[in-house]
Amino acid sequence: MKIYVDFDDCLCETGRAFSGLAAEMFGRNVPYGEMEFFELDRTFSLDGAQFAALMARGHEPEVLLSFEETPGASSVICEWIAGGHDVSVITGRPLSAYEPSREWLDRHGLQEAGLYCLDKYGRDSFSRDCAFSLSLEDYYRMAFDFAVEDSPRAFKFFSHLPGLRVCVFDRPWNRRCEFPGEKYTRCFSWEDIRRIVPAGAENA
Ligand SMILES: [Mg+2]
Repeated sequence: MKIYVDFDDCLCETGRAFSGLAAEMFGRNVPYGEMEFFELDRTFSLDGAQFAALMARGHEPEVLLSFEETPGASSVICEWIAGGHDVSVITGRPLSAYEPSREWLDRHGLQEAGLYCLDKYGRDSFSRDCAFSLSLEDYYRMAFDFAVEDSPRAFKFFSHLPGLRVCVFDRPWNRRCEFPGEKYTRCFSWEDIRRIVPAGAENA
């Protein structure tokens, strides 16, 4: 099986970290549980310059490396890899964040998982030097059987795969969204995801 896994707020607690950064940098106190919008500028009421500063700070290597693992993520993914599944972490982070992102995965025992940066959100506005490792054309040549994603804005990247089962990691910003199809399942933990995705390649 080929499995797509998003990085932020699937593997690690990025939203919680950004909630702390917004409070520290701009005095915006929006606790994680009240982050109703995926767009952080809207969530924290930031203007363009503040949003750019927040994104720059949030993508500094030591900040990326400090993100807490979402409980159970690495052990479930290691089980899949041991079972012969092919796991690709497809992140909307820019290529400038690749090295610390790779290091985070390696530190969490995920050396065997691939890592690709795809412009999921049109975020090149926050950095003039923004580049991504995976072109859209290359992405659409990849096929997946399962996906783990938290962002409704990324669902469009699944519409070419009608057989794909999508585990939507429950987050405050996706609670009100309508899923595009019946193959989407809300998952509240990696234990939920483990129950949906078969562990071994014998099921592939
Ligand atoms: Mg995400």
